[in-house]
Amino acid sequence: MKTKFDPVQNYNNTRGAIGYVPRKKATQKTYNEIGFMSGLEVHQQIDTKEKLFCRCPAGCYHDNDVFDAEVIRHMRPTLSELGEYDGTALMEFRTRKEIIYRIKNETTCTYEVDDTPPFPLNNEALEKAIKISLLSKFKIVGEVHITRKQYLDGSIPTGFQRTAIIGVEGEIPLKNKKVRLIQLSLEEDSCREVSDIRHTRIFKTDRLGIPLIETVTYPDMVNPDEVKEACNYIRFLNRSTGLVRVGSGAGREDVNVSCRGGTRVEIKGVSHTKWIPELTHNECFRQWALLNIRKILNERVSDPKSWKISHEFITYQTTKVKYAPLKEAKANNYKLLAVNLPHFRGLLSHFTQPEKIFANEICDRLKVIACLEKPNMTHSEEFVPIINETDFEKIKKTLKAADDDAQLIFWGPEEDVKTALETIEERCLMAFTCVPNETRKSFEDGTTIFERVLPGADRMYPDTDSKPIPLTDEYINNLSKDIPQEIIERYHQLQKWDVPEDAYTFIFKRNHFPLIERIIKELGYDPKFVGTFFGHRLKYVEGHYKPVSKFKHSILFHLFKFAKEQKLDVQLLKYMLPEVYEHPQIDFESALTNINFKRIDKKEIVSHIPFLKDKFKTIRKKDKPEVEAKWVMGELRKRAVGNISLTELYNNVVKN
Ligand SMILES: [Zn+2]
Repeated sequence: MKTKFDPVQNYNNTRGAIGYVPRKKATQKTYNEIGFMSGLEVHQQIDTKEKLFCRCPAGCYHDNDVFDAEVIRHMRPTLSELGEYDGTALMEFRTRKEIIYRIKNETTCTYEVDDTPPFPLNNEALEKAIKISLLSKFKIVGEVHITRKQYLDGSIPTGFQRTAIIGVEGEIPLKNKKVRLIQLSLEEDSCREVSDIRHTRIFKTDRLGIPLIETVTYPDMVNPDEVKEACNYIRFLNRSTGLVRVGSGAGREDVNVSCRGGTRVEIKGVSHTKWIPELTHNECFRQWALLNIRKILNERVSDPKSWKISHEFITYQTTKVKYAPLKEAKANNYKLLAVNLPHFRGLLSHFTQPEKIFANEICDRLKVIACLEKPNMTHSEEFVPIINETDFEKIKKTLKAADDDAQLIFWGPEEDVKTALETIEERCLMAFTCVPNETRKSFEDGTTIFERVLPGADRMYPDTDSKPIPLTDEYINNLSKDIPQEIIERYHQLQKWDVPEDAYTFIFKRNHFPLIERIIKELGYDPKFVGTFFGHRLKYVEGHYKPVSKFKHSILFHLFKFAKEQKLDVQLLKYMLPEVYEHPQIDFESALTNINFKRIDKKEIVSHIPFLKDKFKTIRKKDKPEVEAKWVMGELRKRAVGNISLTELYNNVVKN
């Protein structure tokens, strides 16, 4: 008996079935249940004059269309030392990509394009990498060995990245636990991608070869917030040394995530730490969803090894659609194919990520592996069908499809059809056995898409062009004298004071910590308030106002002292700050006049509460007490700021 199938309902049902909850509703119990596990690889460029293995300048960037020459390469698979083809190598070969490098003479020499062997390792970079390693309590290696790490996406023309381990087995402290560090490596940065369309991927070589450190943690983080905290700590630690490059693109992280029974999936190049919690939350649940799909498939299909897709070429006349991409495909003379996926009914629209379904997993791979630009397909479980039911019934007949099958329709140039069919079958077969090992690209909304097959662990081999570099104890000891150890203690102090993490960078960059500490200790103010006042409010004011004469930050101590002596509530200082900052010579009383502050006795302010409550009753009939309290606070706020703390006032409103 046929039942009407509703893809949206199926998406909702499957999301419920795997126990997905939005991050805001998730607790540690949620993450324990799905076995959340995550580790980090934090990359940070080191600030050096020259690149790591040649003498080209570092940090000199060009626009996409500024170049002197182009070099074209084709990627070919080579056997690894063990005589096996690496998964990534095969995938990159199947994509039949032509790689083009755009080169500007002033930032690229023959080394970057693999025409000459490397120059000796940049000593400035090595020293800085050792100092940062010491700060993270790594054990420094006795000898630096340069190795080659395979890179087959074309982002490094040689096909490998030169990298060297500098420190091993370190640790960083988070608020509630220690996170173990595996290693810190010094390596060369890769090319920046200009575009990747159909069979052509274009890179530019300006960033290639810039020294980079990579800090790798153990997968010790058990919830998304810990991942963010660890990442912030490592980034902060790197930056606090003053030895690294700052600014957009200078720091990037790869986040590894798995769920219980899942696989290590690498979310690449996350450029904002604040994206991490949402991304890791969703990735863990995506894997959890894939495991559910596996369970369903194995219940339906007793012999997965014999499972295969079938396909038919269909004509554009089969469908009477007005869908623009299909019209375009027809105009381009693209082939149109219908594919039957036996027993996949209800799985194409199975939840994987917020607003993403299993069909997206196939669509993303068709783009990356078969080079079919999106939109490249439609299917039998679209939320908004592109092909109507009658047409789809005809297609199903052509395919001799059974009721519990699902169907895909895709289009593309004839030469890509074979790879596309293989890609579809391969992804579906993986659904029977595992969560595929892959790297994924991140988006601001917290979702990810397939990027590449994750390379195997055995993609490292020694660099025959470089000699080992011995590091003597004396050399290390000399470098260790130069390390700003106190900054770490100060960081922990701010954490203990509960000052928000996004305030730290500004505080350390401007060296405000000693002043903050003095205000807290000598005047007895709430540490969280003072830290936030400097890290957020002062930062804002400095960015938006211009002082008429030199502003000395020591004024701020006197400002806090003034508030204490005058028994003014500390919140008032936020309003006084722009005034005092703009006019450093002003006396504080005049600043108060300029912001229209009037001294009013606490008791007087509180005495207005009953009257305001009566007034509230006349303007709104049936409202909750919180709404009433909020309204009364709003009415009194202007008079209250500086005269009474808002918490104290609120308590009075609630109790009156
Ligand atoms: Zn060079």
